[in-house]
Amino acid sequence: MDQQKPLQKPKPLKLQDQEPKPCQHIRILDCDKPVSRIFYECYHCFQGLLSECDSSQPVRDVEVVCPTCGKSAIRLVTNKVISTTSIPSPWGD
Ligand SMILES: [Zn+2]
Repeated sequence: MDQQKPLQKPKPLKLQDQEPKPCQHIRILDCDKPVSRIFYECYHCFQGLLSECDSSQPVRDVEVVCPTCGKSAIRLVTNKVISTTSIPSPWGD
């Protein structure tokens, strides 16, 4: 019998879980690189968003403001959010 190795998944950036939040779609790419890309939906208006983040140390709690509704879209633990772009939500609907 062949034992298949489980795929190694990159560790996502640590999200704060102080506040209970309903499930929010989020996908983090390139988290092992100096600039990581984070796809997610706005917490308030569900606009699809892409943020490029400087993942160097030290990291801190950064609130990303949604360019569509102007409210806090998500809270990321990162050094700096370089840019936030509206995108069609990868999760559809
Ligand atoms: Zn929004």
